[in-house]
Amino acid sequence: MPPRIVYLDYAASAPLDPEVLEVMRPYLEAVGNPSSTHAAGRFLRTALEEARQTIADLLGAAPGEIVFTSGGTEADNHALRKAIDTFNISTILFNPTEHHAVLHTIEDLVHQGKIEAHPIAIDTYGRINLNHLEELLKKHPKALVSVMYANNEIGTLQPVREIAALCQQYGALYHCDTVQVMGLGWVRVDEWPVDFIAASAHKFYGPKGVGFIYRRRPIKSLITGGAQERGQRAGTENIASIVGMAFALQKAYKQKHAYLKHLSTLKAEALSLLQSLLPEARINGDPSPGGSHPGILNFYLPPEKADDLLLVHLDLAGVCASGTSACASGSGHPSHVLEALGLPAEAAMRAIRLSWGWGSEKTHLELAIQTLRQSLLSPTA
Ligand code: PLP
Repeated sequence: MPPRIVYLDYAASAPLDPEVLEVMRPYLEAVGNPSSTHAAGRFLRTALEEARQTIADLLGAAPGEIVFTSGGTEADNHALRKAIDTFNISTILFNPTEHHAVLHTIEDLVHQGKIEAHPIAIDTYGRINLNHLEELLKKHPKALVSVMYANNEIGTLQPVREIAALCQQYGALYHCDTVQVMGLGWVRVDEWPVDFIAASAHKFYGPKGVGFIYRRRPIKSLITGGAQERGQRAGTENIASIVGMAFALQKAYKQKHAYLKHLSTLKAEALSLLQSLLPEARINGDPSPGGSHPGILNFYLPPEKADDLLLVHLDLAGVCASGTSACASGSGHPSHVLEALGLPAEAAMRAIRLSWGWGSEKTHLELAIQTLRQSLLSPTA
């Protein structure tokens, strides 16, 4: 890591917990393939099945309902592409502020002529309109519904229990991208009739490049090849990362109350700093404590007040944050999430997402917000 950085981009990726790395180490070094029947293979297979059991127990699932993937993107692709294939679904009802892992998959399926897709209406916080979902379900009762738990850019929480109940009532299937909330310890599929969920380890202090899908009923494999994952996902398992992910999730569920308190305290501090130092800032998404992810805050500064180099000012001050506009990565387009909320492009281009976690402190938020204040006073600084 570069020296003296203040990391406020946990929603993009949380740092690997050193304890997780230690748990992974023997499996990084171990010889063998979990599919081999000899002792070396059996050692890895046992670890693999223990990890699956751990995750299943935490979520209230059966071990056979958990399929390991290369991360959240593959999990979303797997659920959407293979649910429609397995159950002959021809309609997807979706939240327009989903992650691109969902939206681009839906676009591709529409493009291939496999499905028709209908966006569900949202309010100015990005929360779906349940009445509109119900109207759509009346017309398309056998649809697949895709609505995430918490938005990765603005943090807005969706009414996931009501959505699941409506889907059950009309006989639709529900896929929920839980990537941003899995580390909060909120997901229990025995208490929530969701059909598919997607998760990714690097959002809860596990390694990057590993995740899982929970599916209530078997679906076809996305990746063809060997018979790994009971024929649900071919390819030699990423055993060290899977073991690390299970440990990281166990730790997250154990510490969930302390974590929620830590994140919520920082959110209250961030909001109060914003109010005192940047009163011109406008919050994107639901500002109420119960309405959004406790570790994500997204806001913009009015175009007449701010230049479009806010992230550069932060970066020069050593603060790692995200602009939610893809223009920050060079494409020149504002974020699809902010556009869906009705934000004008010039405002969306100035959006900043701060997201925090275990390593974050109030002083980090102070540095970020004071830097932004400074850049408003001397925009070319
Ligand atoms: N879904 C959401 C809501 C996310 O925030 C992300 C990652 O940012 C993904 C899916 C993709 O996960 P991964 O990075 O593991 O592919």
